[in-house]
Amino acid sequence: MTRFKQVCEQLQAQPKVWAISGVAGFIGSNLLEALLKLNQKVIGLDNFATGHQHNLDEVKSLVTEQQWQQFQFIEGDIRNLDTCKQFVSGADYVLHQAALGSVPRSINDPITTNEVNISGYLNMLVAAKELQVSAFVYAASSSTYGDHPDLPKVEGVIGNPLSPYAVTKYVNELYSSVFERSYGFPSIGLRYFNVFGPRQDPNGAYAAVIPKWTAALIDEEQVFINGDGETSRDFCFIDNVVQMNILAATADLASSEVFNVALNDQTSLTQLYDLLRDNLAKHGVEREAKPEYRDFRAGDVRHSRADISKANQLLGYAPEFTIGQGLALAMPWYINQSSL
Ligand code: NAD
Repeated sequence: MTRFKQVCEQLQAQPKVWAISGVAGFIGSNLLEALLKLNQKVIGLDNFATGHQHNLDEVKSLVTEQQWQQFQFIEGDIRNLDTCKQFVSGADYVLHQAALGSVPRSINDPITTNEVNISGYLNMLVAAKELQVSAFVYAASSSTYGDHPDLPKVEGVIGNPLSPYAVTKYVNELYSSVFERSYGFPSIGLRYFNVFGPRQDPNGAYAAVIPKWTAALIDEEQVFINGDGETSRDFCFIDNVVQMNILAATADLASSEVFNVALNDQTSLTQLYDLLRDNLAKHGVEREAKPEYRDFRAGDVRHSRADISKANQLLGYAPEFTIGQGLALAMPWYINQSSL
């Protein structure tokens, strides 16, 4: 039996209290759904900056009434320390997902990104330390690899950050190790690589590539590829990320650590476009349009692929979904969201 299956069984036998920040967002709402389905108690925090009430409503529709009763929501901002303390109070585990994502957003507004992603994060870390939670797991990012050319990306080898967003995520890691050294409070950073799945927002200027292109294809709008299409990513289905959060929170690690979360796989943007078109076609949405190539985007790393051996060895991480399997599961959600 995998460690993940074992942990899930233990959690069901002895439920814990989980605090999820950014619970109305894409990753946060998927963590909420998975934990409620495991009959856990969940406290959620969000200020709806980029998250949505409809994500919470959707989770409510996917769990039983009894499971939904185990969820308590706080509308609030992580830039307020008292809110963070109220939020983590009574929690066994904190899964800190709240942040302003997107490289372009951080280039357009580095000050707000810094306030939320660094000061807000620090509030959360202080609150978790003072209230002595058993584990603090936070969303780090593959953007921390910056301009380092090596592939696959190994946790200990990083380059220079390429955007304000990448700086904020790296500072989170620095605070994590300093809190271990200064206060004996270790925490775990999960360097997510391009996560995708249901409830990832297809709208807005800062939408991620998979929901954005899928929505554009469905709506028969032009898809633009930044650069020559050879830029590549290690796209990771949301259920692998859920597995990793649960494994990390329940691991007994004595020191602060960071882990890659992906598949050790590489898909170019042109390949991704073809995959999306093929997957839509399987659902009867046939699209012949070709993408249009334009300039590279500032701040983007060229290639990305994760070495996942550290997560496998220390946490028992074994991703259950490839990009193809993940897209097959996610497509019906995107089609449902559209006006088709
Ligand atoms: P998301 O935008 O869907 O979720 C973020 C949530 O945080 C939103 O619900 C938002 O309203 C909330 N939030 C933002 N500022 C807040 C504040 N000041 N106070 C309280 N809540 C606030 O994004 P996501 O894709 O779910 O990302 C979750 C985390 O994972 C983020 O930390 C992000 O940086 C990180 N991450 C995501 C990816 C990815 O591919 N999606 C990759 C690397 C890292």
